[in-house]
Amino acid sequence: MKPQKFGINTICTHVGEIDDTQFKGAISPLFMSSSYAYENVDVKRYPRYFNTPNQEALCKKVAALEKCEAGLIFGSGMAAVSHALLAFLQKGDHIVLQKTLYGGTYNFVVEEFEKFGIEFSFTQGFKEADFVSEIKENTKVIYIETPSNPLMLITDIKMISRIAKERGIVTMIDNTFASPINQNPADYGIDIMIHSATKYMGGHSDICAGAVAASQEHIDRIWNLAKNIGGSLSDYTVWLLERSIKTMALRVKAQNKNAMKLAKWLDKHPLVARVYYPGLKNHPDHLLAKKQMKGYSGMMSFELVETMDVNLFMDGLQLIKQTMSLAGVESTILSPTKTSHALLSPEERKRQGIADGLLRFSVGIEEKNDLIADLKHAFEYATKNELLHI
Ligand SMILES: *Cc1c(COP(=O)(O)O)cnc(C)c1O
Repeated sequence: MKPQKFGINTICTHVGEIDDTQFKGAISPLFMSSSYAYENVDVKRYPRYFNTPNQEALCKKVAALEKCEAGLIFGSGMAAVSHALLAFLQKGDHIVLQKTLYGGTYNFVVEEFEKFGIEFSFTQGFKEADFVSEIKENTKVIYIETPSNPLMLITDIKMISRIAKERGIVTMIDNTFASPINQNPADYGIDIMIHSATKYMGGHSDICAGAVAASQEHIDRIWNLAKNIGGSLSDYTVWLLERSIKTMALRVKAQNKNAMKLAKWLDKHPLVARVYYPGLKNHPDHLLAKKQMKGYSGMMSFELVETMDVNLFMDGLQLIKQTMSLAGVESTILSPTKTSHALLSPEERKRQGIADGLLRFSVGIEEKNDLIADLKHAFEYATKNELLHI
């Protein structure tokens, strides 16, 4: 049976697994060897060639998850992003990037591209005209990220694929926030799917890794660069990541469900000014999200009313952790003003719609009622302590 014919949970559990021919164990054995025979072998294996048995196995799983021919695993999400970009851009080329991107990606472009002689433009918005107006003669890549962080704005994947194909431009998407469970951009013709596997693929806040999925031809091109730069993932972590992905669909679906319920609950709360969750009908891009996503993910953000003290609210949380990063099975929350967007000026944050009272919430798999009780406690705690201060 072709891997692509399997249902999602079967892909997560089995695609790519290595047969334990020696002991007949149920899971992929872990091969830590960094030295393999070179005579009379089909493939000369070496960790930095990205082709040890465990790397090869996991690449197959990643490819199947994104409905692509091939995949490649890296030491971090940023390694995946930077390799994809540099493999397809050279001196004199131009790239159009979506306005709002992951901070690390933005920094990579603005801090590193000049020395490679690569030109870049960020769009003014998320619509077709915003992208088309930035395309030039030498544009080789269009790069998007949807849903975006932290306001969960949605870019029309099909539209991007169409405007790029008409002009022979390669398309790349950072699909981290959706995960391959909620969104398969290859279905809409996107060429290269990029993931920070540190997030939903890893899912337990204990692995740093990255992944790319694309056609064999595109992956070969990225591999040619990757073997020279040398950012492969250790086989032990590869093996852990394979284990993590086995439960990815179960985890992500539980997170989707929790997030939808919590978004609705927060949306009705008098101390919440606004909820940004693409699953809510009042989200500006709800219909677009409904069209291109299979689930709305566990990521959302919400803005407290101005009279609420964000610090007091956060102090009142006992279950939901105040930590960076996202997409683990545990719920976490952060203030973009103090973390991901701290380096922006207050004016720039305001321009991007990031209020000081905005909180980005990564919903985990805990019981919905326990999460609601925790939020309730935080609202009560903040209200009570604010009164005491006055
Ligand atoms: C975390 C993240 C990255 C970078 O991944 P690392 O594993 O931290 O290098 C890229 N894109 C998005 C959307 C992310 O959330």
